[in-house]
Amino acid sequence: MNVLLIGSGGREHALAWKIAASPLCERLYAAPGNPGIEECGICVDLDSRDHEAVIAFCQENEVEFVVVGPETPLVAGLVDDLAAAGIKAFGPSRTAAQLEGSKGYTKDLCREFSIPTAAYERFKDAASAKAYVEAQGAPIVVKADGLAAGKGVVVAQTIAEAHAAIDDIFAGSLGAAGSEVVVEAFLEGEEASFFVLCDGAHAVPLASAQDHKRVFDGDTGPNTGGMGAYSPAPVMTAALEARVMAEIIKPTLRAMAARGAPFKGVLYAGLMITAEGPKLIEYNVRFGDPETQVLMPRLRSDLLPALVASADGVLGSFALRWKDDAALCVVMAAKGYPGPVQKDTPIGGLEKACSLDDVVVFHAGTRRSGDRILANGGRVLGVTATGRTVAEAQTRAYEAVDVIDWPGGFCRRDIGWRALEAKKR
Ligand code: AMP
Repeated sequence: MNVLLIGSGGREHALAWKIAASPLCERLYAAPGNPGIEECGICVDLDSRDHEAVIAFCQENEVEFVVVGPETPLVAGLVDDLAAAGIKAFGPSRTAAQLEGSKGYTKDLCREFSIPTAAYERFKDAASAKAYVEAQGAPIVVKADGLAAGKGVVVAQTIAEAHAAIDDIFAGSLGAAGSEVVVEAFLEGEEASFFVLCDGAHAVPLASAQDHKRVFDGDTGPNTGGMGAYSPAPVMTAALEARVMAEIIKPTLRAMAARGAPFKGVLYAGLMITAEGPKLIEYNVRFGDPETQVLMPRLRSDLLPALVASADGVLGSFALRWKDDAALCVVMAAKGYPGPVQKDTPIGGLEKACSLDDVVVFHAGTRRSGDRILANGGRVLGVTATGRTVAEAQTRAYEAVDVIDWPGGFCRRDIGWRALEAKKR
């Protein structure tokens, strides 16, 4: 079949790399793609916000299946519009994508269906949000309701900080995403991510993976889209996985089906493992980035039939097989990230890095200029290696990082430290 992949990040390069390896895939298109994806498919200049144009492209090029990588086109209803035109797509409908598109929607669902999460209230004006903060005390967490590209959450240590965050959001710092605010209790514990492939009724867990959100070593500094990831993640034990499935994932699927919006696609739960057990921090409705960059190299099964089965609602009999090997991804970002960055700095040594054993370099914010690769964004490369253990994968990934010649970039030097510490215990 011909497949169209929507997106241009490291996640999409990892998906493209795996989809292109499927015997089912005849031709892979990516819109807009990136120079890394160009090596496994055909990049096309197509704006995913223009649903009519995407549909016309699929019809003209006999595309039978569309895989939507990022959340924005999902929340905008691309999957619904493709379905209405008779084109099958991987990912949730517009309504089901509200699990990521509106934090208030998800919190209300948790309340109605007794899914464990932090206590909360929703607000449409600053005065009542501030009054609630004063009644609850600090630390407390202030969140913009809508999609804010990871910038919509403030973990406030003081009441003053929470008030400032509320004022900021209602003043329009995040645009329409901040027309409503969720204020919720601060949860203590270790964070974990959990990914399941869903078909509306069934959920097949993916291998465990964990990212590092903070920009600097030791998990310090501001939050980012993710500075690296590793798989497997020791925090997600079999017992914890069983609890998360029973207490969080399955009730969510039942709830969405009951609301007439069965969830299909990847459900990515951000969890806090508290003393009382796992609690849901948030849902994302797509593959994680950079986690996908460590999951794809570990996936033994063919990805494409699993994605099609998710769309077809026949995942019930599906099992995904994983390699025993570990994988670790080091994100290289442009200096200044997550703040303003300089673009167009040249990157050398990529061929040499890719020629190392068990290494694959996924592209995110890069662009080609003649035969040179230039940085074109915040997170630029995902240098990924596999090995028998996380420690071995880490050593290989940093060996590859060290042959990349990019004075305009930086990376953390401690990706995977939690997994290595857990091993010592
Ligand atoms: P989110 O975008 O909702 O995942 O939030 C971003 C980050 O903020 C999470 O990864 C947590 O580190 C932190 N966070 C969000 N909600 C809470 C909470 N209720 N308690 C403690 N930390 C939180």
